[in-house]
Amino acid sequence: MSTATVVGSGPNGLAAAITLARAGISVTVLEATDRPGGGCRSSELLAPGLIHDDCAATHPMAIGSPFLKSLDLARHGVHWLLPEVDCVHPLDDGTAGLLYRSVDETATELGSDGAPWRALFGYPSRHFDTLAEDITAPLLRVPRHPIQMARFGLPAVLPASAIARLLRTQPGRALFGGVAAHAFRPLHYPMTAAVGVGIMTAGHRYGWPVVSGGTGSLVRALVDTLTELGGTLHTGVRIDRASQLPDADLTLLDLEPGSVAKILDDRLPPGVLRSLKHFRHGPGAFKVDFAIEGGVPWTNPNAHRAGTVHLGGSYDEIASTERQIHRGIMPDRPFVLVGQQYLADPRRSAGNIHPLWTYAHVPFGYTGDATEAIICQIERFAPGFRECVVGTAVRSTTEMSVYNANYVGGDIMTGAKDIRQLVFGPRISLAPYSLGVPGMFICSAAAPPGPGAHGMCGVHAANAALLHLR
Ligand SMILES: Cc1cc2nc3c(=O)[nH]c(=O)nc-3n(C[C@H](O)[C@H](O)[C@H](O)COP(=O)(O)OP(=O)(O)OC[C@H]3O[C@@H](n4cnc5c(N)ncnc54)[C@H](O)[C@@H]3O)c2cc1C
Repeated sequence: MSTATVVGSGPNGLAAAITLARAGISVTVLEATDRPGGGCRSSELLAPGLIHDDCAATHPMAIGSPFLKSLDLARHGVHWLLPEVDCVHPLDDGTAGLLYRSVDETATELGSDGAPWRALFGYPSRHFDTLAEDITAPLLRVPRHPIQMARFGLPAVLPASAIARLLRTQPGRALFGGVAAHAFRPLHYPMTAAVGVGIMTAGHRYGWPVVSGGTGSLVRALVDTLTELGGTLHTGVRIDRASQLPDADLTLLDLEPGSVAKILDDRLPPGVLRSLKHFRHGPGAFKVDFAIEGGVPWTNPNAHRAGTVHLGGSYDEIASTERQIHRGIMPDRPFVLVGQQYLADPRRSAGNIHPLWTYAHVPFGYTGDATEAIICQIERFAPGFRECVVGTAVRSTTEMSVYNANYVGGDIMTGAKDIRQLVFGPRISLAPYSLGVPGMFICSAAAPPGPGAHGMCGVHAANAALLHLR
């Protein structure tokens, strides 16, 4: 029987391990920390019974992932729960952009921006299930569904600012800008629309669900599936040197490229080593989780129904703050994402105390404390918020990389998603998962198709590894 080692148990490591185990390979997963799951863990962080997602919270990409759809997740306790409104982007004048699963409902709320919204997202979201095979695969290949891919791809290759110009209302522009900002890139850069258009299209097909009981339930289901297939997982095993790697026919690394370079070092061909060492990271995330009594006193009534609330003001303000963090400047009012997962999943609360998940976009490696900036952004749209807070847990950019070594400098995207790294991953190659050493592959979100809890980087890396074995 062939053997494989997977280093790192994030969603991509587990997806790679399951894909290999399904093909009859004997798989061992080695995880540095004491809990599997990487960016998909959940914790009773602030009080017993109060469940916070440590990282990934909202899952438009995971629910539509061809890999996750191929598993019987429900048998392992995973249920996707939708809030009434997927996302609200409130503005200072009291108006807000509202994102619903339904394109029509969203377009109706957007008034005169309804027509461009339908034109942008109607067709691709109707064809999302076929499109998903292409957009969750390396971009540099012949698409399986060229017509759908062309309709999706044309807006996706543009800068987000070009899409925003098609929209005329402040709520419409801000709604799109907030989602496009998930790319952590200045919105006028080429291809910055790709992440926003992808999340929006998936969201209009499936909504922005949370996982019942926390994203950690998804990890438990993946680990159970792997175990049923005969795979094993060891936690508390950190790999720092190649000599620690067990002998195996295949080795897949669910790691950021710098760590791969350190571990494999001169075993790698010089060109590959150089590319991994020069891999570029993006800005950071500064995370603050709150325990709040009663709920957030939002001024905009729709924010009380929304799973996600984007706080950053107008499109122009977000474009400006994203430019600043890219240049290493901490804005006074950073873009803040707020997750109210308990609205769709009330069992995450403890009585009238609710878990509130937030993070701010900050410069790479930001050493300051963004807690007050986050609170002020929430207060801006929910005066009196401060009085509702009964507990706070802070994770700075430094603590982010201690929590998970893949998040260097707080970069939760596992690398800057500029065109080159978005298309190719860590190095320019038609074999983006290969490390140039027979049997060795990278399978993390640094590789295509990039970040998210969809597991597809792991699946494609495992398929490349299986091809190598044959
Ligand atoms: C605050 C935050 C919010 C997010 N929100 C969302 C969201 O709402 N929706 C979404 O889809 N995505 C979200 N993401 C992104 C998502 O979590 C990641 O894209 C995803 O987890 C990447 O998966 P991965 O398997 O590539 O790596 P990771 O999840 O980073 O897992 C890597 C694993 O490898 C382990 N490891 C690292 N170094 C070593 C070593 N040397 N030896 C052994 N093990 C090692 C780590 O401990 C970790 O368990 C968020 C991330 C963060 C941090």
